[in-house]
Amino acid sequence: MNETKIEWCDMSWNPVTGCLHKCEYCYARRIANRFKRPFEAIMFENTVEESDRLFEVDEKDVKYPYPFAFKPTFHTYRLNEPKIKTKSRTIFVCSMADLFGDWVPEEWILKVFDACKAAPQHKYLFLTKNPKRYLELEKKRLLPWEDNFWFGTSVTKPDDDFAWFREKKFHWFISMEPLLEGIDITTGSGVILPEWVIIGAETGNRKGKVVPEREWLRKIIEDCRTYNIPVFMKNSLKPIWGQRIITEYPW
Ligand code: SF4
Repeated sequence: MNETKIEWCDMSWNPVTGCLHKCEYCYARRIANRFKRPFEAIMFENTVEESDRLFEVDEKDVKYPYPFAFKPTFHTYRLNEPKIKTKSRTIFVCSMADLFGDWVPEEWILKVFDACKAAPQHKYLFLTKNPKRYLELEKKRLLPWEDNFWFGTSVTKPDDDFAWFREKKFHWFISMEPLLEGIDITTGSGVILPEWVIIGAETGNRKGKVVPEREWLRKIIEDCRTYNIPVFMKNSLKPIWGQRIITEYPW
């Protein structure tokens, strides 16, 4: 578990790493590739089609914290980390993965939930680009309904899937980062609106990077004000919005 530069939480915790969504703007893939085990890197070049391969690591590797690069990996030795931290923290769970990707075994997800439940002093923020997995888990009654669990959906453009909650039972938030188009948070979201909206722009100098328009931000903030939804604007928006960004939390 690490202190993080991510502005809306205190720590990130990565019992599962790796992701197969292949977003062009992914910062996590760049980091994982930098700290992969060199031998495995060579092996991957020969097994590039094996996208469904999963890995498990049961002891810490200080030199290569992402031994299998960005392949889905379960670091079982990290499960105990929240329990060790006694001071209450806001923890982003799996900032280096999509824990709810279709490829992630249910067993991994449930073990992560169990580790969170074993350390109830913290607030846990989950985030996925695949919110239908939340729904699948909920149907099986496996999605924990805890007050310190916050389930987030990552959306970057209007046609991303973020409309799944039909009951106001779970804490639900939207992270729009990087914002690639204007998004209307009030359409497609059924009767339930999110309890929190995070907005950010892509950082770094990637060729083809999208800079959000001020008008997109104004509309999202206006909708949040209308429906009384707290907004958290990341520092990456300062060049567009100015220094007075809004940093609100729902708790
Ligand atoms: S969903 Fe997140 S972790 Fe996965 S490729 Fe996209 S940006 Fe990276």
